[in-house]
Amino acid sequence: MTDGARSATAQGDTPREAATHCPYCALQCGMTLRVENGRTAVTARQFPTNRGGLCQKGWTAADLLDHPERLTTPLVRDRPGGELRPASWDEALDRIVTGVRAVQTGHGRDAVAVFGGGGLTNEKAYALGRFARVALRTRHIDYNGRFCMSSAAAAGMRAFGVDRGLPFPLADLGRADTLLLVGANPAETMPPLMRWVTEQRQRGGKLIVVDPRVTATARQADLHLQPLPGTDLAVASALLHVAVTEGWVDKAYVDARTTGFEAVRRSVAGWWPARAEALSGVPVADLEATARALGTAERAIILTARGAEQHAKGVDTVSGFVNLALALGLPGRPGSGYGCLTGQGNGQGGREHGQKADQLPGYRRIDDPAARAHVARVWGVPAEDLPGPGVPAYQLLDSLGTDEGPKALLVFGSNPVVSAPRAARIEGRLRDLDLLVVADFLLSETAALADVVLPTAQWAEEDGTMTNLEGRVLRRRALREPPAGVRTDLAILADLTHRLSARGRTADAADPRAVFEELRRASAGGTADYAGVTWARIDESDGVFWPCPDTDGPDTPRLFADRFPTPDGRARFHAVEHRPAAEEVCAAYPLHFTTGRVLAQYQSGTQTRRVPALRRAAPEAFVELHPDLAERLGVADGEPVRVVSRRGEMVAPARLSPAIRPDTVFAPFHWGGAARANSVTNDAVDPVSGMPEFKICAVRVERVGES
Ligand code: SF4
Repeated sequence: MTDGARSATAQGDTPREAATHCPYCALQCGMTLRVENGRTAVTARQFPTNRGGLCQKGWTAADLLDHPERLTTPLVRDRPGGELRPASWDEALDRIVTGVRAVQTGHGRDAVAVFGGGGLTNEKAYALGRFARVALRTRHIDYNGRFCMSSAAAAGMRAFGVDRGLPFPLADLGRADTLLLVGANPAETMPPLMRWVTEQRQRGGKLIVVDPRVTATARQADLHLQPLPGTDLAVASALLHVAVTEGWVDKAYVDARTTGFEAVRRSVAGWWPARAEALSGVPVADLEATARALGTAERAIILTARGAEQHAKGVDTVSGFVNLALALGLPGRPGSGYGCLTGQGNGQGGREHGQKADQLPGYRRIDDPAARAHVARVWGVPAEDLPGPGVPAYQLLDSLGTDEGPKALLVFGSNPVVSAPRAARIEGRLRDLDLLVVADFLLSETAALADVVLPTAQWAEEDGTMTNLEGRVLRRRALREPPAGVRTDLAILADLTHRLSARGRTADAADPRAVFEELRRASAGGTADYAGVTWARIDESDGVFWPCPDTDGPDTPRLFADRFPTPDGRARFHAVEHRPAAEEVCAAYPLHFTTGRVLAQYQSGTQTRRVPALRRAAPEAFVELHPDLAERLGVADGEPVRVVSRRGEMVAPARLSPAIRPDTVFAPFHWGGAARANSVTNDAVDPVSGMPEFKICAVRVERVGES
């Protein structure tokens, strides 16, 4: 019997009801799955983050469990360009092992790479990192979270010494007198979160939104700043400039709890609001009003999300807002602080336990000798056998199949053909591989290119843990067994490890509870310490916040109350300076292009594009244009248009809307094929985080038929 699942019918001991969480975003809304009349129904569950609410995606999440396109047998391709055909598990796994051995014999261990995902459970993310380092002994592992959270993570680490998206419970949002959302659109990406915002506003709080588009969230704001894409850092600098000149800096806090303010104060001295207005288009009065609302509030929260972060200067932009929060004395005070809104379901946990190129479990660094020794002990291998750091996701993907890069890639829970920047180039790299293996439960665009496709279990068919955007570790509970022919990712990794005759302890490697027990030991003493988190403890409460080093000790819903986890206990200001986008507009490419999400779709759309209700709600991609721009181009609403950048093009119907600036066009990134927004995006990356510049590049828009 699966923990937390129980029989609601007289059908033996088969679990028929499970209290679990949504498979999609990082809010991880509580839901109950129940089998009724042979169908799996979703009901919302009271949980601290969603308080009984779900969005469309959550309500329809079970539609994929018995979807006709579900993969239920391994597939192999006999020759390049040939068709995928069904195969037995033995044939598919042997093919992988033979291919891996051939590549590593011919080109070395690092010629095989692993690519994971921010939707994998903690157990899977951990097992994938161990598989890469111990079974394959390759340094090349990274994951799609690099495209999501890495800039905020890097800025958080350098300021606070820790990267936990929200260092306070979500409920704190409701207590803030001023809430500043920068590049965040939760009304569309995670609607139940807006209940906290509504509560905040009903208490008399002020909501201020910074976004180049008049989004569903911006429409609810008391004040909407609509900057040119790529100028958020100038906005942050101007806000801090005003706070300094108006005397709103919390000097006692800055003196007692931080270092480096003087350099930051000097760096913003030249960012008078008129200069920021000239660059960003945000009126001086709005900048001053925002600074005042933050600087004079008793409690204020600043949150960033992908709009601010997915830039080649994403880390510095986040640092600009962290500097502002620190100067105002916000972090560590209840109802106040800085945080980022994590996107993917396990975007938080997935970046803590070893999927990242430079990381070992517990948010340890792979180049730290003490960390290597600790984790190697848990894994039962010599520390010197662990590989060193690999390279960030885009760099890894862009090296595939080249003379210097990996020749084989194993992909779990990711669809880079749609989600990577400059995607046509990455698609070409994948085609150049000697061996591409994809584990998924649907034939994603990436799986369709693979030499071997392994059919995997869905979220309702396996147990595990997720860590939500608050750093709260949750239990995902299985409702049923996977269908015949389908295996869990953990079972696949365990079998491959066995077939590769890898060293290290692998007992119970397919059992998520056993893997979690090992993860607890591996993370013990690390930054993200899960040693005191047990499945039983999660079950007894509404999740457990890390760090939690002791089973008998408390967890940590709020960080930074007394000190920051830095060597001297102080937060660190970091002086940053605005710089232009990696690609600026010009005569040939005169418009700014930015990408984002829509309510009814999720990430690369592999799942949500196949859910009938979501497909009806958001059937296709579109290109959002301001009516003035459309008139200039002679484009009518609904007419197909081509968006062209130096890297590629996409075609989708025009959607005319005054919600966007006339100098900017927007497209959602959930679709592949001709409508793939990432054919257009820029692959310039942040030098610190490796985050690609998804949110701005230069394009022209043409009517289809013109060239
Ligand atoms: S907000 Fe996120 S977690 Fe909640 S139901 Fe929607 S997709 Fe699922």
